[in-house]
Amino acid sequence: MRTYSEGRVCAEPDCTTVLSVYNPSPRCALHQRQAVLVHFHRLGSAEVERHCHQCGEPFVTANPRRKYCSARCRSHAFAAREKAMRRARHAA
Ligand SMILES: [Zn+2]
Ligand SMILES: [Zn+2]
Repeated sequence: MRTYSEGRVCAEPDCTTVLSVYNPSPRCALHQRQAVLVHFHRLGSAEVERHCHQCGEPFVTANPRRKYCSARCRSHAFAAREKAMRRARHAA
C-alpha cells in the first residue's frame, strides 16, 4: 500500500490535525468532508459571473442563458441588431 509523507498537517488554516500516512488528501477527515459540502453548495446555487454582451460590465446571474446585465442593455443590443438587419437588407 502506498503511504504519504509523515508529519503532514491538515491544509485548513488553524487546523493542527496531523494527517495519517495513509490519507492521500491534504486535509483531515473532518475538513475533507466540509470541503466536499461547500463544493456541492456552490453547484446547487449555480450563480455565475458573466460579462454583458452590450456594455461588457460583469454581472452575476443564476440564468446561464442571460447575456445582458440589464433590460437597458438588452434593448440597446436588440436595437443595434435591428439596425444591422435593416442595413443588410438595404445593401442586398
Ligand atoms: Zn483539519
Ligand atoms: Zn450591460
